[in-house]
Amino acid sequence: MNVRSAHSVLESVFGYESFRGDQAAIVEHVVAGGDAVVLMPTGGGKSLCYQIPALVREGTGIVISPLIALMQDQVDALAANGVRAAFLNSTLSREEAAAVEADLLADRLDLLYMAPERLVQSRTLDLLSRARLSLFAIDEAHCVSQWGHDFRTDYLGLSVLAEAFPNVPRVALTATATPATHRELTERLRLDGARHFVSSFDRPNIRYRIVEKNQPRAQLLDLIRTEHAGESGIVYCLSRRSVDQTAEALRAQGIDALGYHAGLPEEERSAHQARFLREDGVVMVATIAFGMGIDKPDVRFVAHLDLPKSVEGYYQETGRAGRDGLPATAWMAYGLNDVVQLRRMIDSSEGSAARKRQQRTHIDAMLALCETLTCRRVQILRYFGEDSEPCGNCDNCAEPPTGWDATVPVQKLLSAIIRLDRERGQQFGAGQIIDVLRGKDNPRSSQSGHAELTVWGIGADLSENVWRGIVRQLLARNVIAAVGDYGVLVLADAAGPILRGEETIELRREPERSQRARTRSG
Ligand code: ADP
Ligand code: ZN
Repeated sequence: MNVRSAHSVLESVFGYESFRGDQAAIVEHVVAGGDAVVLMPTGGGKSLCYQIPALVREGTGIVISPLIALMQDQVDALAANGVRAAFLNSTLSREEAAAVEADLLADRLDLLYMAPERLVQSRTLDLLSRARLSLFAIDEAHCVSQWGHDFRTDYLGLSVLAEAFPNVPRVALTATATPATHRELTERLRLDGARHFVSSFDRPNIRYRIVEKNQPRAQLLDLIRTEHAGESGIVYCLSRRSVDQTAEALRAQGIDALGYHAGLPEEERSAHQARFLREDGVVMVATIAFGMGIDKPDVRFVAHLDLPKSVEGYYQETGRAGRDGLPATAWMAYGLNDVVQLRRMIDSSEGSAARKRQQRTHIDAMLALCETLTCRRVQILRYFGEDSEPCGNCDNCAEPPTGWDATVPVQKLLSAIIRLDRERGQQFGAGQIIDVLRGKDNPRSSQSGHAELTVWGIGADLSENVWRGIVRQLLARNVIAAVGDYGVLVLADAAGPILRGEETIELRREPERSQRARTRSG
């Protein structure tokens, strides 16, 4: 077989004229029986990289995916193109599963989907050993990375394929690999002899924007009304409750918004997903439970109302915008509380110390992206190991933010934290510290006699908003930390040199644009 027949499959089965990017090279390599590691951004066209070789080669291609809920859709879509596809998972009855197994053994299937936990059962491995196999495709291969953002234990078992099926080519695919994850998945899946296809992760049509969070729902509404009226979009929220409330708030403003999270009944979730996929102009408000494997080309915006836990997650989620290559927006509102909340979630989580360290590293990278003064895209791509030039299509390129020397205000803030702690044995969260700095009376101040402190009012020259921006950036840079249930502020590693005057610190001046967004909607 050769690439010409691969090309004819591309045209006759999928109806496309030409391969994109690395697709042709990958298909050729796999058709010839080679192993491959494929790193391609979301929407890059990974599916064809194994579907076409599975159709060109003899036997059945086994597709391993964690997304059981999507298998039916994937199989239906393939069947609509005349591809003989099936899946094996727990949603099938015993009889249905037996029929699929019989089809496999009789070589009547081009593609068979299953989850890793199914594949590694000895019964399944035995079944596969009696079938004629064209390839294994390991989708979402980053899930094997123990330190990645989306680890799934079942993926570790996939290393058996190398030994059990030495003659069947294996293709591992992911959209979320940093150089470290790339190395790890290659090793764990024993793909030592594989060829690596690393596409550019750039999605040039997506405009990245990260704004200061003031009134998130009003800001979101403003974004939708002024830039994306009547268009499809996804809004990500951290909690189920905020999904429900945000969807409700958008509907109250006449926007066709639906909610999606794991707490909703299955029927409601699939009905909402189906409407989002089929109809134009639906806004899906969702937790990150929504979106993996969703292939809707004309999603015009992805909005984050809460801070994602990693750059990988952020990039995967924003990557669902603009798959058709037309201009799309990745917009995020982010504020002080996001930092406090996310750090607290990690501190109080179950994981090992090493796991928590890893999660903190992920968040730090995400925060650095939020606070950067330079091109967002350059920073994202560098994170994925790729060098690039300022893009001209992100907020920082369009309206470069300025930095300002914040050394003196930061020293004031650090002193206030120290004074309250040393002189009064008191620790407070951001709100109270800022009130002390601004000399703003509140019941707690009067009760504790804060007005007598030497630090009282020493920061009255700056607005509350500016102070919140300062606290947020200091948290992001580990100059201070917010600890415990109340998020009390304490000094962190990077504070010493600034306090002693050995280092200056430059912060990002909050640009006018968030101000504008507020007045427009207000
Ligand atoms: P990924 O899995 O990398 O996120 P998909 O495989 O779902 O991406 O492909 C994204 C979209 O691009 C799909 O709608 C797919 O049909 C389309 N696509 C993929 N390859 C091509 C191609 N060569 N020509 C035209 N459209 C393509
Ligand atoms: Zn840029």
